[in-house]
Amino acid sequence: MTTESRAAAAPALGNVKMIIGGEPVDAADGQTFDVINPATGELLARAPLGGKVDVDRAVAAAQKALDDPRGWSTWSAAKRGRTLQKLSTLVKQNLEELAQLESRNVGKPISGARGEALGVSLVFEYYAGAANKVFGETIPVSKPGLDFTLREPIGVVGLIVPWNFPMNMASWKLGPALAAGNATILKPASYTPLSALRLGELALEAGFPPGVVNVITGPGGTAGAALAGHPGVGKIAFTGETTTGQEIMRLAAGNVKKISLELGGKSPNIVFADADLEKFAAESPYSVFDNAGQDCCARSRIFVQDTVHDRVVELFTEATRKVVVGDPSDDKTEMGSLVSQRQRERVADYIAIGREEGAELVYGGDAPTGEEFDNGAYLMPTIFDACRTDMRIVREEIFGPVVAIIPFKDEAEALRLANDTPYGLSGSVWSRDIGRALRVVKGLKAGVLSVNSNSSVHTEAPFGGYKMSGIGRELGMHAVELYTEVKNVYVDLS
Ligand code: NDP
Repeated sequence: MTTESRAAAAPALGNVKMIIGGEPVDAADGQTFDVINPATGELLARAPLGGKVDVDRAVAAAQKALDDPRGWSTWSAAKRGRTLQKLSTLVKQNLEELAQLESRNVGKPISGARGEALGVSLVFEYYAGAANKVFGETIPVSKPGLDFTLREPIGVVGLIVPWNFPMNMASWKLGPALAAGNATILKPASYTPLSALRLGELALEAGFPPGVVNVITGPGGTAGAALAGHPGVGKIAFTGETTTGQEIMRLAAGNVKKISLELGGKSPNIVFADADLEKFAAESPYSVFDNAGQDCCARSRIFVQDTVHDRVVELFTEATRKVVVGDPSDDKTEMGSLVSQRQRERVADYIAIGREEGAELVYGGDAPTGEEFDNGAYLMPTIFDACRTDMRIVREEIFGPVVAIIPFKDEAEALRLANDTPYGLSGSVWSRDIGRALRVVKGLKAGVLSVNSNSSVHTEAPFGGYKMSGIGRELGMHAVELYTEVKNVYVDLS
């Protein structure tokens, strides 16, 4: 569809609104941007092109909610928890609608989107239970008085999320921020604002007071930057590209905001000769091609012990052939389209770079054939073998369905090669020798690891990266620390 015909067409979901101070609102200057279904090119909705003025409005609304003498700041922790539980229930009741929105907006398979919507509900349920378990300590200081700490909300917090798992990333931030009593301003990615706006509506329905959950849409470079630099915002929680995270650090420096960053990854999957190779091969295509590879935890580098290299490549390729690429709305589809034509081109460029660098293309490398793929941002799962750690396809985060296979000789070499990256988010080790697996786990500079499994995300456990993959840990009770200040109080008892 051309830009002109898009402008004339009525969006399938109409004009959506931001949520500021509990009200559905347009951008102050009335401008909008198009929201597209990347699997079909169809115009889904028009969203407000928010800017600095809208960020100012949202910050004022959030501060007003915190300042209300009978409002949000006076709520008991138990009441915050009950309201989060209501939100969890509402997400479950509206699961199919949220999943359809996410599938159509991101191009991801509907089956996966349903699982993600359920995950959102479970995250809110977890933080519903966490709300009244956030407490301080008493400390035996050397003076003869009483010393204790209070854990208090930071105040107005900005939550900036990416397009790959839009509602999950929003829930990972909203859950602990609200459990701790903050007022929030959520900014979804411009490709994928729809599920965040719907979550904002559900938060109001659950009973959060106006101004406690604001959702603003608009470009990262203007609306996002205005939020990250705003003197009235006490903290920014961000998920996205490492370079954007660096820019957010600079913007946040103005008022020394607290920051937590979940950034890129280039995660290793390390396979030793004594591993259950069949299990590895059956499960591992999912670890890199799920969400069309647009996953910060994607196991995009496979290190294979040289004695089993050929067998592993054969088994992994066989399993990859079975990945069903197709229409995201079909229940059988396992890999849908990428998020945009731009992202597809970016990934296709990396595939060309891999070929030029001398990596051996074993599978994929192009778009799937068939007219159903003509208007969508599709690519086949792509496997490169005979890779080296100095290649760009091994060093840089591709954020698409591309995996690089690299052989190694022994444990020491596996560890050295796997750590040869600026990133440190996640990774897996496959071996029947548990001593070796744990030695490698201890040696890996990464925050989220698994043994004989590719599992990275557990609602109850910390998630986050070493090195250039980020700062702070989301999920579990660790995340609550990201949204609280610790106040120490000494009382002279004499
Ligand atoms: P971006 O960094 O481009 O965008 C993320 C969010 O930041 C979007 O909402 C974007 O808005 C906004 N943004 C962009 N520029 C600025 C700015 N200058 N100031 C403030 N906000 C800004 O990442 P992508 O959306 O492209 O997401 C993909 C990246 O996210 C990958 O690199 C991936 O590894 C990483 N990621 C990391 C995860 C983790 O947990 N470690 C999880 C998921 C993704 P807009 O869309 O309007 O540009």
